[in-house]
Amino acid sequence: MARFIFITGGVVSSLGKGLASAALGALLQARGFTVRLRKLDPYLNVDPGTMSPFEHGEVFVTDDGAETDLDLGHYERFTGVSARRADSVSSGRIYSNVLEKERRGEYLGKTIQVIPHVTDEIKEWISADGNDSDFMLCEIGGTVGDIEGLPFFEAIRQFAQDRPPEECIFMHLTLLPYISASGELKTKPTQHSVKELRMIGLQPDILVCRSETPIPDKEKAKIALFCDVRPEAVIPAYDLKSIYEAPMAYHAAGLDQAVLDAFRINPVPKPNLTRWVDIEDRIHNAEGEVRVAIVGKYTLLEDAYKSIAEALMHGGMANRVSVNSDWIDAEIFEREDPVPYLVPYQAILVPGGFGERGTEGKIKAAEFARLHKVPYLGICLGMQTAVIEAARNLAGMKDAGSEEFDGGTEGKSFTPVVYHLKEWIKGNERIERSVDDAKGGTMRLGSYRATLTEGSRAASIYGCSSIDERHRHRYEVNVKYRKALEKTGLRFSGNSPDGTLPEIVEWTDHPWFIGVQFHPELKSRPFDPHPLFADFIRAAKEMSRLV
Ligand code: GLN
Repeated sequence: MARFIFITGGVVSSLGKGLASAALGALLQARGFTVRLRKLDPYLNVDPGTMSPFEHGEVFVTDDGAETDLDLGHYERFTGVSARRADSVSSGRIYSNVLEKERRGEYLGKTIQVIPHVTDEIKEWISADGNDSDFMLCEIGGTVGDIEGLPFFEAIRQFAQDRPPEECIFMHLTLLPYISASGELKTKPTQHSVKELRMIGLQPDILVCRSETPIPDKEKAKIALFCDVRPEAVIPAYDLKSIYEAPMAYHAAGLDQAVLDAFRINPVPKPNLTRWVDIEDRIHNAEGEVRVAIVGKYTLLEDAYKSIAEALMHGGMANRVSVNSDWIDAEIFEREDPVPYLVPYQAILVPGGFGERGTEGKIKAAEFARLHKVPYLGICLGMQTAVIEAARNLAGMKDAGSEEFDGGTEGKSFTPVVYHLKEWIKGNERIERSVDDAKGGTMRLGSYRATLTEGSRAASIYGCSSIDERHRHRYEVNVKYRKALEKTGLRFSGNSPDGTLPEIVEWTDHPWFIGVQFHPELKSRPFDPHPLFADFIRAAKEMSRLV
């Protein structure tokens, strides 16, 4: 049976609860334990799949096809443990399950209430599909005191109450603001936040205190006294240059020791932190720099492409270079010549996206990369726009387009080199879709196999002949045009095992130009950089040598 660590936050949002949870997961692994991490989100969307990346940042897709919160990306990157559908749940999902059960008559005529029906449903999620690890870390989204978070806080209180005390602990993240006029760190907001927790019956075992400046022992002792935690369980968390310093920093601050002490685990196994020492060395001792242009749509909110930014950094670590990426709004290239914008970069990445806005600019970016022989990685929509570019400019299909953007204009005639996917095979199942389907959860989602073409660049980068990668798309390059496109030198180097769905394309006469229908960024880890990102940055590094 797993031990449970519940992670909550107070004072303000965006304190880095997800990161603290992920780093703690990594530290427990370093001590020889197995971990799972889970996120409980109080918002009412059933999942983040339909939320705009501007609203909520990236949608992180799991192998089993769940569309989840981006914190699951941190969890996977720090622990290497692949998340599953049960690792992300929102109020929306909980309520919709409860209401479905009510409609089916499963509550036998009872009045349905937040306590116990909603809290029971939450408790079921907390322990569902999670018996395969020593520790289950459950992060509660939002901040203590949020109205919509209350059922979750009540549920974790009950959950711990139902079990022996050594099975559950509570960790709370707060902020110590620095008042420069008096030169003091203030503990009062932390005291209030803990008071808020206690009012709903939760007593933290560990307090993680974010602070810009060192926390004097006197203040630590005060927090311990007023919040009723042991002084060694008051863990300072200072700002870091890189998120990958978090495991070592939390270890130095005593977090893993405090957690093991709270569970009364004795003797504590010694940690093996070599993985994180090596990562820090690669970050701090880079031997050069490459510049990557990311030509996309959601460029204003960095979290919208979180996994891509991280995967690029991992590619840099693999090559001992730092990766400096700039986000360029694709729409600019619809008005202006891309050349002066893109010349300073050693590589171009066009990420995934939805809708028409900016697509013509992405097509221009692909054309620039092809003509100027600049390394290009197109992900999902970035592959589709590269194929449209090839069709229009080399295969004689001047009106090539995608049903996603051209299909909406009544009477517009175009060649649908990218079309709406109506059916595909998942395992032994045939999945069918229609254009009128509801938007939530209806895409081709999760891990699918692709077969790599012998002798292709893709096969040599992966070093194998078949791969499993995560997908999230409704449209697909139309295999009908494969022959016409291959004649121009665009090789279809990865395809679904039945050959009907193109998964990877590459230019044969180009130093590095690859488009992929899937999202390789979701499987990259700092200690195990994704081969495509590692090789993309290697190619960029070659370019910087040529300049
Ligand atoms: N909008 C495209 C599709 O649905 C691409 C999706 C993506 O880039 N993730 O196929």
